[in-house]
Amino acid sequence: MYCKKKGKLIVVSGPSGSGKSTIVKHLLSQNLNLVFSVSACTRLKRKNEQDGKDYFFLSVEDFKKKIETDEFLEWEEVYNNNFYGTLKSEVLGKIERGYNVIFDIDVIGAKSIKKIFNSQAFLVYIQAPSIGDISDRLNSRSTEDSKQISTRLAKAKFEEKEKSSFDYILINNDLEEAKKNALIKVKEFIC
Ligand code: 5GP
Repeated sequence: MYCKKKGKLIVVSGPSGSGKSTIVKHLLSQNLNLVFSVSACTRLKRKNEQDGKDYFFLSVEDFKKKIETDEFLEWEEVYNNNFYGTLKSEVLGKIERGYNVIFDIDVIGAKSIKKIFNSQAFLVYIQAPSIGDISDRLNSRSTEDSKQISTRLAKAKFEEKEKSSFDYILINNDLEEAKKNALIKVKEFIC
């Protein structure tokens, strides 16, 4: 099985537009011996994203090959024909060397990681005030078209139902407050 000692795993999930990536970036900037697990995905790269830093952008064919060769800890077809997955090579060596690894993955992926690593993993669910608020945030960041926004809003409703499986629900009504609370909880878990 996998190495289940040394570094810890912090898994951050929540709807698109909940402020997840901002919280993850904030935690990465603190002195927590924390590194990001770069996922593989098959969606198109956005303008501000870098291959190998934000994601490993793969074709569907290459992604499926990696499924066959058992290279993922977990993977999901998060949106229709858009696959996302956590590569073993991104995580196992890092925790073995004593780094703590932080993930930005969906709720199903988070539950899969918990199943593998149990108490070595801490699941944080980021909750935006309301679906209306998520909709406003998605519209204002302009990285998705209206069809993609509707898909993401439908997914947000599903994700909300899964939040009781998480170790900590972080309410993001106020970003500065949310960053502070995230740091307190993650520090507590790591230390
Ligand atoms: P986005 O397209 O906005 O970058 O991500 C869409 C969704 O896929 C987000 O909820 C994000 O957390 C999730 N995601 C990103 N990487 C992974 C992964 O490796 N596995 C799973 N299960 N979900 C992921």
